[in-house]
Amino acid sequence: MDAPHQAPEYTPAREVVDYELLFDCVHCGLCLEACPTYILTRTEMDSPRGRIYQIKALAEGRLDADPDVVRHLDLCLGCRGCETACPSGVRYGALIEQARAWVERNYRRTVAQRLRRWIVEMLFPYPARLGIALAPLRLIERAGLRPMLQRGMPQAMREWLELLPPLTADGYAEVPVPNNAESRHGRVAVHRGCVTQVLADSANRNAEKLLAGTGYAIVRLAQTVCCGALDLHSGNRKRALEFARANVRAIRDSGADFVVSTASGCSTAIAEYGELLKDDPELGAAAKKVSAKIKDLSSLLVDAQAQIFRGVECTVTYHDACHLVHGLGIREQPRALLRSIPGVKLVEMESSDLCCGSAGSYNLTHPDAARELARRKADTIIATGADYVVLANPGCQFQIAAELRRRRSIVKVVHLADFLAMAASGSRK
Ligand code: SF4
Ligand code: SF4
Repeated sequence: MDAPHQAPEYTPAREVVDYELLFDCVHCGLCLEACPTYILTRTEMDSPRGRIYQIKALAEGRLDADPDVVRHLDLCLGCRGCETACPSGVRYGALIEQARAWVERNYRRTVAQRLRRWIVEMLFPYPARLGIALAPLRLIERAGLRPMLQRGMPQAMREWLELLPPLTADGYAEVPVPNNAESRHGRVAVHRGCVTQVLADSANRNAEKLLAGTGYAIVRLAQTVCCGALDLHSGNRKRALEFARANVRAIRDSGADFVVSTASGCSTAIAEYGELLKDDPELGAAAKKVSAKIKDLSSLLVDAQAQIFRGVECTVTYHDACHLVHGLGIREQPRALLRSIPGVKLVEMESSDLCCGSAGSYNLTHPDAARELARRKADTIIATGADYVVLANPGCQFQIAAELRRRRSIVKVVHLADFLAMAASGSRK
């Protein structure tokens, strides 16, 4: 008889996980102190090395997908800090995605877990659905009743609500940015993301304005869908492939030379379409080209030697979003831009590239670990004495802002695109 947590149709893990990749790990342990979950629990099985060990044991049939193993794999943020730290080039991100896809096919989750995951999967990749779901809250906020609503909610729901940014705020999109209307450097398409276009669209619009203002032509994508990152990280590979195919067609047909996303998780997902769709007979080659077009906003602005900043007097610290720094290797370019702004003093926070706990939908599915990481991140931000913490991912923005709001901190959390637009206008918000 099947174990209660085992799905009826059991697939051997070895058929799903790229077994050879597991042997790249030489068990040196150099990744351990770069791993946020190991830092939190000090448990080997919550470290990259421990998880690789468990994935190997699953692949060899020495371990069953029981609640303990799944808990250790689930607790991973997918931040890929371990990849940056690893001297052996272990492709941990690919391994955990494959292992999670296997878990979802072979492990029966509890009703509460399935409900949480269902809400995330049915809502977040669909901007129209998310917009409709948030409409009542928008009205409540307009009436000034959001704090009262939050106070009266059960704790689990209150924590979800706290993560939402103010829905009726002006944002930063109205800041004027000089637009040269020339295309000296090529054509750029901004993939607007799903959650980003509902909750942080000013970053998209300001990215377009900044790029246009520095000599790029903006082209629109006919139709895009979720990048698939949420599904890849939660083991829903089938839908991630469907999303990837739709995006590859849209980007291929747009004629764009470069693709930018203001959500670093989306950028990394698109950068991996070539690998994801390598066996697709129709779109394999196109996916590879699309992946090569991914660029970060800060890289394009540095390449164009952007000189559009009038200046703003303030102290800024920069938080490295995991997928931007560990996935795409972008560390210096945003800092170079910030340093180039007259009046800006850039101060480094401790462990700027350690995950803040946002990690896609992690802060919704693992609120305790996410909250502890947010607390640590807020401590390091406040210790800098900065006026602003600038970052390039809306998920980190919501997570860090929620923690700073709880502490009534005056530090402002601003997306890089919004901050640069503000600096271009010369007026501080
Ligand atoms: S991806 Fe992040 S949380 Fe997961 S094992 Fe690597 S460092 Fe740890
Ligand atoms: S993942 Fe890399 S750094 Fe970590 S134990 Fe294995 S070889 Fe060492």
